[in-house]
Amino acid sequence: MKYETPAPDRQIAMVLDLNKCLGCHTCTVACKKMWNTDAGTDYAYWNNVETMPGKGFPANVHDPATAGRDLDGTTKRGQIPDLDTGYGRAWTFNHKDVLASTGAPVKEWLRPREEVKWGPNFDEDHGAGEYPRENHYFYLPRLCNHCTHPACRDACPRGAIHKRQQDGIVLVDQDTCHGYRFCVEACPYKKVYYDHVRQVSSKCIFCLPRIEEGVAPACARQCPGRLRFVGYRDDPEGPIHKLVDRWKVAIPLHPEYGLGPNVFYVPPMSPPRLDADGRPTEEPRIPLAFLESLFGKAVGPALEVLLAERAKTRNGGSSELMDLLIAYDWNQNFKLDAHQREVLS
Ligand code: SF4
Repeated sequence: MKYETPAPDRQIAMVLDLNKCLGCHTCTVACKKMWNTDAGTDYAYWNNVETMPGKGFPANVHDPATAGRDLDGTTKRGQIPDLDTGYGRAWTFNHKDVLASTGAPVKEWLRPREEVKWGPNFDEDHGAGEYPRENHYFYLPRLCNHCTHPACRDACPRGAIHKRQQDGIVLVDQDTCHGYRFCVEACPYKKVYYDHVRQVSSKCIFCLPRIEEGVAPACARQCPGRLRFVGYRDDPEGPIHKLVDRWKVAIPLHPEYGLGPNVFYVPPMSPPRLDADGRPTEEPRIPLAFLESLFGKAVGPALEVLLAERAKTRNGGSSELMDLLIAYDWNQNFKLDAHQREVLS
């Protein structure tokens, strides 16, 4: 299907600074506990954190996609990840054996009951590169991109997915959804999940009840690294406009899919590789080609700006960009609107 995209009045968006992600998964837990504890979506993570380089979640999600859009805007069909080898089933644990308060000494370790072969974060902190000269990894938190041209919406024959006019949030109407899963196929980011108990699709709602009250999404508000910024694309005083449009250091994941993501990333700077004698070289540990495979060609110029601004502060100067990214005051990460700012303070 070809897309028709009535532009929303405003577009809410998020920027994630990958230089500050701790890989603590607080965002994932905040999201999962708030929205996603149903039995039918026990395997699903509206928000997840991946170690890169790595397989991602679901497995191999960053391999060249069959989904997304053709150059003429036509939605391409993709695949539905396998529950065992793609997502990984939710494990069950021997909590009762370990934690039951019987008074007797505990003799059991906490462990999954099943044989475990794959799941989210299965390759956590593995990374790539030979130790100690070039080993590297970084964390990549992911959520629905609330795309400008959502493939999930256009793949749905029921018209059950829409993009909200007031803020561009992409939602599934579960009363209309018949569980065909075309949206799961079509989203190349694999951020629509099938609830196999209720037999409907389910996805990130950008914490819209919080947004409407002027409160940032749970993943952003709970982040101890203060790496998430939330606001509207068209607010010239907001962090999104500054980082995406003015400084051009925040760029989308997989722009080649053609969906116009509204989640942006400040790419990771990396320490230098070492030469054979263990001395630092001019080469960054994270290869530019790998970053380009995730973020496209805009990643090089973005890194150049970041490095130049960081050098300014290292030389005793000041940098508006570095001050913004450091986020001295967490309130500054979330610029919603005047009313919402009052609610926040
Ligand atoms: Fe739809 Fe996927 Fe885009 Fe989210 S990321 S709006 S689920 S196509």
